[in-house]
Parts: sequence; C-alpha cells; structure tokens
Amino acid sequence: MAVRVGFDEALMLYDSLDMNKLSRLATEIREKINGNKVYYNKNFHLEPSNVCIHRCTFCSYRRESDQEAGSWSMDIEQVREYCRKKYKNGETEVHIVGSVHPDRDLSYYLKVVEAVREELPDTVAIKAYTAVEIDDMTKSSGLSPKEVLKELKARGVMLLPGGGAEIFNPSVRDKICPDKTDSDRWLEIHKEAHKLGMRTNCTMLFGHIESREHRIEHLMALRELQDETGGFDAFIPLLFKPANNPLSHLGEVSIIEVLKTFAISRIVLDNIPHIKSYWPMLGKELCQMALLYGADDMDGTINDSTKIYSMAGSREQNPQMTTSDLERLAAEAGFMAVERDSFYNIIPKKS
Ligand code: SF4
Repeated sequence: MAVRVGFDEALMLYDSLDMNKLSRLATEIREKINGNKVYYNKNFHLEPSNVCIHRCTFCSYRRESDQEAGSWSMDIEQVREYCRKKYKNGETEVHIVGSVHPDRDLSYYLKVVEAVREELPDTVAIKAYTAVEIDDMTKSSGLSPKEVLKELKARGVMLLPGGGAEIFNPSVRDKICPDKTDSDRWLEIHKEAHKLGMRTNCTMLFGHIESREHRIEHLMALRELQDETGGFDAFIPLLFKPANNPLSHLGEVSIIEVLKTFAISRIVLDNIPHIKSYWPMLGKELCQMALLYGADDMDGTINDSTKIYSMAGSREQNPQMTTSDLERLAAEAGFMAVERDSFYNIIPKKS
C-alpha cells in the first residue's frame, strides 16, 4: 500500500469482514519496516502507588485513599528495596508508572527517579511517567511541561511511556475520564518531550464506549504529531478489560475486533515504527495472534511487576516470561524474536 490511508478508507477497512486482507495489508507494512523480526526486552515495572485523585470509569487499579483495602504507596526507601529485589536478570529497562496521588508532588517523583538511578546499573534505561502524571507535576510545581521534563531528564529519565491517551475525542473523554488531562495537553507534553530529544510511546484505550470512528480520529491525531516530530517509537493498542471497574457491564470486545484494531493501527500509523502487542494485557495467545495483524513488539519479561491489568481481570495474574518463552511465542507465529534495548537497538545473543 503506497498511498497513505485517509479516514474514509480506514473506516471501510475496519468495517470489512475480510480478515485475510487486513492481515495481509498490515503485514506488508510491518515487513517493510521491521522485516520478520519480533522485538522483546528484559524489563520490570515500578508502580509507586495506586491511590489516585482521578476517577476514570475504566480503571480497576485506583484506590480512593491510603486507608482503602488494596491500596499501596511506596516511600523512597521502599522504592529502593523494590529495585534491588526486581533487578536480577540483566534487565535493560524499568518502566515507572502509577497513579496521581493526592499528597505527592514533583519533588517526590524526582526523588523516585534519583533513587532508581542510584540503585540500578547504568545499563537500565528509565522510562517514566505518563503525560497525566507529568501534567499533575506541572500543577503542583507551577512549572511548564518543558521545565518538568527537563528536571526529569536531568535525573535520568530517558523515555516516556504512552499511557493516559485513552481516546482523544472530547465527548468520550467527558464520560470516561472527565477530570483528567485532556487530549491537547497529552499531545503537548509528548511534543515537548520530543523537542527535548526524549523518545516516547503512545497508546489508545479501546473496546469500551468509543466507536470505530473515534479510534480512527485518535490514530490520525497521533499520526499528525508523528509527522511533525518523529518522536514516537511505538504505539500500543490497549484493550479495555472489564473486571472491577464502573464499566464492567460493557464486557469485552471480540477477538476479531481486537485483531482488526491492531491491523488498522498498523495501516494508519505508517510513520510509527513499532506496534506493540502487550502480553500482560492480551494474554499470551492473543498477543501471538496480534503479530499476524501488524504487531512487531511483545514488550518484555515483566518479572511479575505490574498489577494494572491483573486487577482488571487479565488472565495473566502474575505476569512474567523468560526470554525463551518470548522467543517461542514469536517462533510459533513464524517470526524471529530479537532482544532489544529501550531504543530498539538489537542486543546480540550471548553464545
Ligand atoms: S487510569 Fe490512571 S489517572 Fe485514571 S483513575 Fe486510574 S490510576 Fe488514576
């Protein structure tokens, strides 16, 4: 497909029942960009708290206060201990993301990064804080996004995760996350990060109250920013999981809808190099299937370090995989797995 697809064509493809065609079109693009490779990394997550001022209706992770059952909030010493415990197999990335805690401010988030940097070897890249968390840091400090990002970068943050984008459409956002960072602000923070030379990821939460049209609009907004800055490395379609949240009654969309969304994402986002099929959310089998619909990155070993999707009912309740497990999943789907660092440089296999 040489010509970039527009809104109408993307919608037509989405509505089509020809799954073979969608797989073929998405695979053509993934092959042009990534050949037969499927990327993975060795990583773990750090989720400093789940107590949050926001009340996103799709969220199963948040707790109202530190007193509520199931809540946690780490102090800096606990962050240090956690890093010492989780770093054990030559991980190359720590992914820091959490909630917007009512009593934490910029100085706490900077101390977290400083502690992580001190505890882990330089070979571990720090990917930290969503645009929503960064937006809150600007509010508590009175600094601009650029100033906050510079503070984070100075302490060792190298990349930003892509969370908090949800669905950009304001009418959907008003219903699912009315009080948090709006889409313009989310895009502005990523643009500032790109201007500072920081690579970032981007996401879309799908499968709740939004329509296919809303999803395509969302993808087009990301494509437009990528045309301007080139700073996104990977796009992650995040599947809404219905357990334990106010939108539980919606249930989960079909596997066909999930695979179509991967294919359409790969086809529309022709300028973002990687599409990630995030296995702690999808489960291993669906993650593997998404590789046949344009995805080229499975994320990492995780080491049982994230609760966001397990609290929402993912079948992966204690997510962890060895590199051999990841390599096997890729091989079974007909791809060659390669280990990458956080910047998609391939790490040669030790013989
Ligand atoms: S999705 Fe994030 S911002 Fe929204 S309630 Fe959950 S933890 Fe808070």
